[in-house]
Amino acid sequence: MIVYSDKYLKHDSAGHPENASRLRAVMDYLRNKIKELSIAEPRRAKKSEVCAVHSQEHYNYIRSLCEAGGGNIGMDTYVTSESFEVALLAAGGAIKAVDLAAQEGYAFALVRPPGHHATRDQAMGFCLFNNAAIAACYALEQGIAKKVLILDIDVHHGNGTQDIFYSSPQVLFISLHQHPLYPGTGYVEELGEDEGRGYTVNIPLPPGTGDESYLRALEEIAVPIAEQFSPDLLLVSAGYDTAKEDPLGGMLLSQGSYWQIGRVVKTLCSKIALTLEGGYSLTALSRGVYATLAGLSGIEVKKTQSEETTLVRAEVDRRLVEYRRVLREYWDV
Ligand SMILES: [Zn+2]
Repeated sequence: MIVYSDKYLKHDSAGHPENASRLRAVMDYLRNKIKELSIAEPRRAKKSEVCAVHSQEHYNYIRSLCEAGGGNIGMDTYVTSESFEVALLAAGGAIKAVDLAAQEGYAFALVRPPGHHATRDQAMGFCLFNNAAIAACYALEQGIAKKVLILDIDVHHGNGTQDIFYSSPQVLFISLHQHPLYPGTGYVEELGEDEGRGYTVNIPLPPGTGDESYLRALEEIAVPIAEQFSPDLLLVSAGYDTAKEDPLGGMLLSQGSYWQIGRVVKTLCSKIALTLEGGYSLTALSRGVYATLAGLSGIEVKKTQSEETTLVRAEVDRRLVEYRRVLREYWDV
């Protein structure tokens, strides 16, 4: 099941990598590949749902910037007169995916703008409200889950999601991302604080990481930790800028990895809600979303394996040994 609305296309800036053509391409591809694509309409997130994660000041700031006609936040994040409404609908889309996951097993919210860089007080990295974090709080508050795993597979570190749940043991945040890369956070030593110590797990991987090393990191570190946590709900911050064709990321994943991610997450939890984050090659994004859905529903896709150098493979080997050493204090890895 997909959650989608054409209204997501209204937040747009031609020439910016995070523009409306991304979702147009994904929906065209899915409609072509899947005969009876079932699409659920999202609802607008309520102010109380957004402000379970964000400050009132942040909520009001985004609203008033839109009412004033829009503008830029920092170097990279744009806001138009439509963006506030679209961002509420994106957060509401992630919430809708949680409701559907609770009923049907899994759902994929194909939303924009993305969310995982947005912190409690700050829009950044193309993100206004943190859709996955809002959905996680919704699930906890509604009693849909007592323990939520957020698996972030975007090429960029989900600094916003990490910050929001840094001291919470109810939300385990696991991120696989490229490092070094924007926003510069996501070291393995960032482990959470207070009661949340150990409930932030960062697995930074080098540029040039391909399918083989990526899936090793996923299956040898992320999966055992996820199994030990045993979540009631799994949220995937699904970014596709890890693809080898992506213009912003330096990883080399192929469709096969996205299919395998779909297969793997299916084994981790009975309720899975995916939320779209990044992905800036229209072809790789569309194919990647389809491959994840195919993996989740057990449909085969044609797989090719991307190449990675022996140098990168050795670097990943070295890093995984180090990460195990750091994480062993909290998890059996
Ligand atoms: Zn990204």
